[in-house]
Amino acid sequence: MRSVPEVRAAVAGVRRSGGRVGFVPTMGALHTGHLSLIQRAAADSDFVVVSVFVNPTQFNDAADLAAYPRDEERDVALAAKAGAHVVFTPAVEDVYPDGFATTVRIEGTLTETFEGAARGPEHFWGVATVVSKLFAMVGPDAAYFGQKDAQQCAVVKRLVTDLNLPVEIVVCPTVREDDGLAMSSRNVHLRGSDRERAVALVEALDAAEAAVRSGMTDAGELREIVTKLMAARDLTADYVAIADADTMAPLERVDRRTVIAVAGPVGPVRLIDNIVIDPPPV
Ligand code: AMP
Repeated sequence: MRSVPEVRAAVAGVRRSGGRVGFVPTMGALHTGHLSLIQRAAADSDFVVVSVFVNPTQFNDAADLAAYPRDEERDVALAAKAGAHVVFTPAVEDVYPDGFATTVRIEGTLTETFEGAARGPEHFWGVATVVSKLFAMVGPDAAYFGQKDAQQCAVVKRLVTDLNLPVEIVVCPTVREDDGLAMSSRNVHLRGSDRERAVALVEALDAAEAAVRSGMTDAGELREIVTKLMAARDLTADYVAIADADTMAPLERVDRRTVIAVAGPVGPVRLIDNIVIDPPPV
């Protein structure tokens, strides 16, 4: 479906018969990570809407936007197989009509640290604006997001609370390749040695997790473990975040449910990854 009225009519029909509507927003180039969200939505709901919209306002780099992989036919086939009833592909002109002047700005550390520092807070304002619009267009009971984008999950939860949006946010685990690399639409641009080096992100995160399990809690020491393991593969992180898993507030020590997140360039792409750790009780 390409138009908002079409999607609204389909969802209204489901609602009239008491059905539950699940929603999975994506930018397309679907991989097994996206499909896991669709499968989870299908398990929880009577009707599943998947949106495919490459949102220009969340890209801070025109070349990244231009290079973003697109294959609508393949996406529709994969989404349907995973349990989607509708794939919604709005046009850029319909999402951002002439005269468009409204932005959802989430202020403070949530959008200014880590990914917000690396890409600019405009990235998350773009995400918050398009997610608000998609929720208004589709009207789902629940929406499914991937833990892979940890800060995005925190931003969306804040948005839903702050604007009283009647949507339940469900965060699903990160799906990985056999060697641990987090699945991403951008991985198709990784070739040869870059593909091998990309595993350094998850290796570094795993080493940090092992260090926490053996009693290390100091954020500086943990950051050093991650930085060194990435450097061993000739990679430099944009940041190594040690933060409260729910709020993304930076932590001095791991004393609660903590996200360790890392981002950095690998060859032609910029990758992100994270793990969540519940520290052993002291
Ligand atoms: P994107 O198309 O990259 O905007 O991603 C759409 C949704 O899929 C977001 O909620 C992502 O967090 C989620 N996602 C992307 N990659 C993965 C993955 N490897 N595992 C789980 N969810 C993912």
